Amino acid sequence: MPLTDTPIPTIAQALHRPRWQTLPSFFHNDVVVAPLQGARMVHVNQPLAASLLGCAAAQQLAPNDWLAVCQGDVTDATPAPVATGYAGHQFGHYVPQLGDGRACMLGEVIAPGGDYWEWQLKGAGPTPYSRRGDGRAVLRSSIREYLVSQAMAGLGIPTTQALCLTTSDEPVQRECVEPGAMVLRVAPSHLRFGHFEYSFYTGNTAAHQQLLDFTLAHYYPQCANAPDPPAALFSAVVEKTARLMAQWQAVGFCHGVMNTDNMSMLGLTLDYGPYGFLDAFNPDHICNHSDTSGRYRYSNQPAIGQWNCAALGHAFTPWLSEATVETLLKDTFYPVFMEAYLGLMARKLGVLAMEAPPRAAKGDDGLLPHPYKALVGDVLMLLAQQRVDYTQWFAALTEAGGEPDTLWQKALGESAAAKQWCRQYQAALTESGISLADRKQQMAAVNPLVVLRNHTAQHVIDSVATGDTAVLDEVFTALAAPYARTSANQVLATAVMAPPKPDATPLVISCSS
Ligand code: AMP
Ligand code: MG
Repeated sequence: MPLTDTPIPTIAQALHRPRWQTLPSFFHNDVVVAPLQGARMVHVNQPLAASLLGCAAAQQLAPNDWLAVCQGDVTDATPAPVATGYAGHQFGHYVPQLGDGRACMLGEVIAPGGDYWEWQLKGAGPTPYSRRGDGRAVLRSSIREYLVSQAMAGLGIPTTQALCLTTSDEPVQRECVEPGAMVLRVAPSHLRFGHFEYSFYTGNTAAHQQLLDFTLAHYYPQCANAPDPPAALFSAVVEKTARLMAQWQAVGFCHGVMNTDNMSMLGLTLDYGPYGFLDAFNPDHICNHSDTSGRYRYSNQPAIGQWNCAALGHAFTPWLSEATVETLLKDTFYPVFMEAYLGLMARKLGVLAMEAPPRAAKGDDGLLPHPYKALVGDVLMLLAQQRVDYTQWFAALTEAGGEPDTLWQKALGESAAAKQWCRQYQAALTESGISLADRKQQMAAVNPLVVLRNHTAQHVIDSVATGDTAVLDEVFTALAAPYARTSANQVLATAVMAPPKPDATPLVISCSS
């Protein structure tokens, strides 16, 4: 049959009722999307649409088709949207009833490769889990989520992704009145640690068991066949979380609200709110204005990742003893995190080849003695002392391929410690045996030229508010390929995506959006 005769499904036809519906109703409710008044499309992530629906289908969709989906404009064939229930530890305290208070799953799409993708609309109106909230999202936070989803995907960090963004004339009350908006986000699953906590603490043992079986069957089939499936699943989630923390730390990403309800069972970065990328390197950086104690400060993220895994482990105690949970956590989290983090940092410095083989046996403490621990720790101390821009410094180092160069060397200061570090670094480069050309190439693959800075996001927000989406498009494109040393990226890195001016007042970003 000629290709042109093959019927191309509409979005509504591509959406299947999510597999969530096979779980007990304890975990979900059917909901109705509440359309926004005067809604209009702001942006569609065309490459993502093509990968999820196929090129032909994506190409034939007009902005109005996307708008219809985001307005809950359904046909009889479209599945009912679903909101899910979960609980979670927020800032260390257990909250028994959370859930999708302003998001609903429109359905699942089976991509051309056969993978399932949940499509979730955020800001779609109240659900049974909204508590006192209005179920809405504002344009400011929706643009931030849309951009950062692209930024993380472009950096190669596991994340939910964003398919399209709408805005509206509908006023939404926050600290002041803002336009309502929606983001259509997608992920293989939005399953959270908090879903397991929900059935565990409620004591619904049947639902809890079904959630375990569901997770194993759909997302961890390799663990389902292990001798002890719950133990294998727990270890796998701990490992993914530790690797995710390593990637966040290496790129200077701060999540801001690492509550267990915002932790993905698939090790994805999930629920973007008051996040931020480091500008000047500061281990104590707190990106969330509401985080008064600094629980989720940059340097504390790995420890919180582990704390959250322990909270998940507690919800696994119907299947594993507390002692087993503790052992699995201890054996997995920190060793995996350290190995992954120091490996990434050594690659950023260009002293470790991309395809370096795994290292030799572990010591008595279960950890590999890492040859680059001091080199990494010492340079971070210098960057913090001199308040050097984290992304820009590694980009300058990449440009020089680590060779002595005034740009990156001067930034470290004139101290004896800085000079000693430079000597040790040059020795480590020589010892690595990697040629300058290879080193430059390899460093460029791990050191982004551009990251999503708060002031850049704000500039995009201000532009979109005046109806101008050109900057959004430009930044979105750059974020898709942040490692590329293209002339467009070079220009952006010194302009709209440059470090904030030293005298600029930091933007205040908090949870309420
Ligand atoms: P977050 O801080 O965005 O992760 O949200 C924490 C909890 O509050 C989740 O259960 C959300 O669904 C819910 N929530 C946040 N904002 C709203 C809102 N505007 N309306 C209803 N629920 C909300
Ligand atoms: Mg959340």
